[in-house]
Amino acid sequence: MGKIVIVGSINMDIVNEVVRFPEPGETIHGRGAAYHPGGKGANQAGAASQAGGEVVMVGAVGSDEFGKVLRSSLRELGVDTTHLKTKQGSSGLAFITVSDSGENQIILSAGSNGELTPDDISNGPFECAAFALLQNEIPLEANLHAMKLCADRGIKVYYNPAPATTIPPEAFPLIDTIVVNETEAAVVSGLEVRTAVDAEAAAYKLRQAGASNVIVTLGGKGAYALDASGVSYQVPAFHVQALDTTAAGDTFIGSYVAAMADGLAVFDALRFASAAAAIAVTRQGSQSSIPTREEIVDFLEG
Ligand code: ADP
Repeated sequence: MGKIVIVGSINMDIVNEVVRFPEPGETIHGRGAAYHPGGKGANQAGAASQAGGEVVMVGAVGSDEFGKVLRSSLRELGVDTTHLKTKQGSSGLAFITVSDSGENQIILSAGSNGELTPDDISNGPFECAAFALLQNEIPLEANLHAMKLCADRGIKVYYNPAPATTIPPEAFPLIDTIVVNETEAAVVSGLEVRTAVDAEAAAYKLRQAGASNVIVTLGGKGAYALDASGVSYQVPAFHVQALDTTAAGDTFIGSYVAAMADGLAVFDALRFASAAAAIAVTRQGSQSSIPTREEIVDFLEG
């Protein structure tokens, strides 16, 4: 099995529930804060590791107390944290407010994630890596450096451009597999994406731009994929009672990379990832909802 290097963000999510959002200038009471380790990089690392991958994380936590907690929560998920940097100052924070109407507002404070440099990446554990997985919560300069370094060494670059921004043209040929949800697909392709037919059009455009394989996740509608040889796949979502869809995409992506590292064919890896994400949406939270490999296998057999 090839080692997976995740280069990305590590955040503490500080979640507060409110009856309604405050108006500008208004102070209201929340129901009390809850602290949950998060960040797209860390969530995807946790999902890949729990799904059976050998995962090492490249990223940065702060010198604050959160930094220690974030490190140990990643370790508990089986992720190798020996290559994480500690930057002077605050860890990455996500201030999340959830209203009784079910909407949320999120303020991201990049903290140490924003301090990750190309040099930090160069010193990363890429020797025995077969796969790298990146997102958009670290500086673009660091991401591009990681992509080039990995592509040069024949390490397959998996990229989840989230939160979505346009992708520099020079990055596309470095990408082995791009994984996007509907919103991200629309931003990176410039096309509206709501259905599998839209997803196919967006996927062809991203392939034309230079990405080898494209996966578009469509929430409860499943996932669409177009592989390097032009074969397309449609994988329906499993029918489950969804309780909390937070980090469905992170679980899908992490377990997909783990399945590919395990040597599965694209269709089988897509089913494995869909099962992992289906389990995750039946549970509350992000990292706390990530299933183990055994749970995923049982679900697929059950
Ligand atoms: P994101 O969390 O990035 O918005 P999606 O919402 O597209 O990602 O979900 C990713 C994957 O999670 C989907 O392709 C699907 O396999 C699974 N999934 C999401 N929502 C559900 C659901 N309600 N029921 C079953 N599976 C789901």
